[in-house]
Amino acid sequence: MAEKRNATDERTERLRRLREELAQAIERRDIAGDGDGIGAGHHHPAEVATDADLRERQLADQMRLRERQERIDRAEKALAEGTYGVCADCLEDIPEGRLEAVPDAIRCVACQTAARRLGRL
Ligand SMILES: [Zn+2]
Repeated sequence: MAEKRNATDERTERLRRLREELAQAIERRDIAGDGDGIGAGHHHPAEVATDADLRERQLADQMRLRERQERIDRAEKALAEGTYGVCADCLEDIPEGRLEAVPDAIRCVACQTAARRLGRL
């Protein structure tokens, strides 16, 4: 029983760390997006195009980070409900090694690969 609680603590801690890292990454990008005058002050057409590319890449990054945050929310909810570490699709246990590498994983590798192919989160 004690062993089980320790594993849960470990998982909670991993998720908490991941959430913190992500929050910092989002904050940095928000500041970068508002603060450094992207798109302002350039008049050369080539520079404008580069700025548009950069902006698009930043938006894509931002979206990925938000999706990640959503997954962490889900993982924390699952942890609270006791369903964490169980694949959402096939209901098999997700290997601890995968949870260490990807604390917000909600599927095993096989199901995640299949889900990604279908364009699911
Ligand atoms: Zn699965």
